[in-house]
Amino acid sequence: MKSLSVSKAGSQSDAARPAHTRGKKFLSYYKPYMGLFFADIACALIVSAITLFLPLCAQYITKNILEGNDPHELRDIALLGAFMLTLVVIQTLCTMFIDCQGHMMGARMQSDMRTELFEHYQKLSFGFYDEQKVGQLMTRLTDDTFWLSELYHHGPEDIVVTFLTVTGAFIILAKINLELTLLLFLFLPLMTMYALYFNKKMNKALRSSKDRIGDINAQVEDTLAGIRVVKSFTNEEAEKRKFAYANRRFLASRSDGYRSEAYFFGGLGAFAQLMTIVVIVLGGIAIVHAALDLADMLTYLLCVGILVDPIKKLINFGELYQEGITGFQRFMEILEIEPDLQDTPNARELTRVRGDIEFQDVSFRYKENQKDVVKNLSLRICAGEYIALVGPSGIGKTTLCSLIPRFYDVSVGKILLDGHDIRDVTLHSLRRNIGIVQQDVYLFAGTIAENIRYGKLDASEQEIIEAAKKAHAHDFIMALPDGYDTDIGQRGVKLSGGQKQRLSVARVFLKNPPMIIFDEATSALDNESEKAVQDSLEKLADNRTTLVIAHRLSTIRNAQRIVVLSESGISEQGTHEELIALNSAYANLYNMQAKI
Ligand code: ADP
Ligand code: MG
Repeated sequence: MKSLSVSKAGSQSDAARPAHTRGKKFLSYYKPYMGLFFADIACALIVSAITLFLPLCAQYITKNILEGNDPHELRDIALLGAFMLTLVVIQTLCTMFIDCQGHMMGARMQSDMRTELFEHYQKLSFGFYDEQKVGQLMTRLTDDTFWLSELYHHGPEDIVVTFLTVTGAFIILAKINLELTLLLFLFLPLMTMYALYFNKKMNKALRSSKDRIGDINAQVEDTLAGIRVVKSFTNEEAEKRKFAYANRRFLASRSDGYRSEAYFFGGLGAFAQLMTIVVIVLGGIAIVHAALDLADMLTYLLCVGILVDPIKKLINFGELYQEGITGFQRFMEILEIEPDLQDTPNARELTRVRGDIEFQDVSFRYKENQKDVVKNLSLRICAGEYIALVGPSGIGKTTLCSLIPRFYDVSVGKILLDGHDIRDVTLHSLRRNIGIVQQDVYLFAGTIAENIRYGKLDASEQEIIEAAKKAHAHDFIMALPDGYDTDIGQRGVKLSGGQKQRLSVARVFLKNPPMIIFDEATSALDNESEKAVQDSLEKLADNRTTLVIAHRLSTIRNAQRIVVLSESGISEQGTHEELIALNSAYANLYNMQAKI
């Protein structure tokens, strides 16, 4: 369902955007490969010219033999044979060039487009990803661009070959017998109308089958990523049913497509055969009436035969065009989505900040939500302060923290960092100053060292070990069979929750930012891990502005200030002792947890 929002956004922009902008964009991908492109077209021209030339050679030979006016007919036939052989060799070489280099041109263009789309994916903000399914986005990057590359390569070549061969063949035919050719010519508009009608149907079916294959990918991605949950709830059957549903929907859309394709291919093939039959019958009659000789009839049939191939190419082109253009539309739909969070033209570059954060009357709501998650909130966090945020689940603690690195922009009010509105500084320099340990730690497939290095890509081995030590991760890493080179599996499945947490803390140590946000997940940890994480956090907090979202209140007794969030905003704040003495929300929460 959600993936449709892209299509919707896309169709809105379709209307707003003149078609020629997309047309220009479509052509722009040829630019770096103009040399290859023209070589490809030149080869296509040679192939068509030779195709047309061969029936003429046949005509020359048969005419000479029939008329008996060549005293060296055998020698001439042999010479002509050798000449035709040379032409065929040239034609084969050109075809091979088109097949190899033309395809490579398409592949390179596909690679450029994939890169562009991937770079665009990196620019799009959280708001976009909240609405998307990863599988769908992957389909656009791989499958759609593949069809596009096929169109880029075959498209111009097919058009050139078809246009040249059909025109050339008709000229030869008209020269041999004008009446018969004009009759054949009548088939063309009929064929075109027929082809256009079924092309439209094919396009519709293709578009829907592309969406459906995206759904399948999204479904597989979701199920496999969550395979542990699936198995623990023994919901394999339910997953199979969901998959079967997506699969059936894809098949249904494919079936529509194949039906239209069958009409399309079958019908056009029949037209081509019909033309041959008309020539044989009417040509036969013309020979009987001595209006046509045998040599011309042979040439005529060969030329009609030549016509079938470009018509088939045209048919293929129809399919290719549909696949490619649908792919291009789906590609552009994403590319045309402007990232809603961007640097302003004169955004300033922050160097290392002191870490003074101020929320001024901030309100925020998620795009599709009715209700503000943060409402009229004002809060000042001084540089170097260690502050804890507490409150019931779902009250907006994570959301509030995600406003500081501008994962989302405030709806009302502003956030100042060292006195600068964070919307006036570059995103990159803002985020470089903030380290975040997220509640659900995400680690990448790879080794432990690679994952820690994510905090500073050019870190030395020594720095990595140093960071791991500070995060209390070194000892458990050394106990693993391959130490820092241990592969941790997809998303770090081979590690425990506490170990993952500590790796993500190490990553932030390495980044060494002046501000940190710690969305604490210690409630999921055993006592020993919790103590290790807690210790590493306190080390990390030293000399930095630290914002901790605390779930277990025992962990934040040392905080310089505790801010309690409630439905109406900040309900109280102060040190642990002050809030206990207040005997209100915090004290209640604390006592409740103390009892457990
Ligand atoms: P907390 O961290 O205090 O438990 P959150 O900040 O995660 O709470 O969530 C606050 C509210 O915002 C919740 O009602 C949640 O449903 C909603 N919310 C969180 N993330 C999103 C999102 N990406 N899109 C829409 N709503 C969200
Ligand atoms: Mg949260």
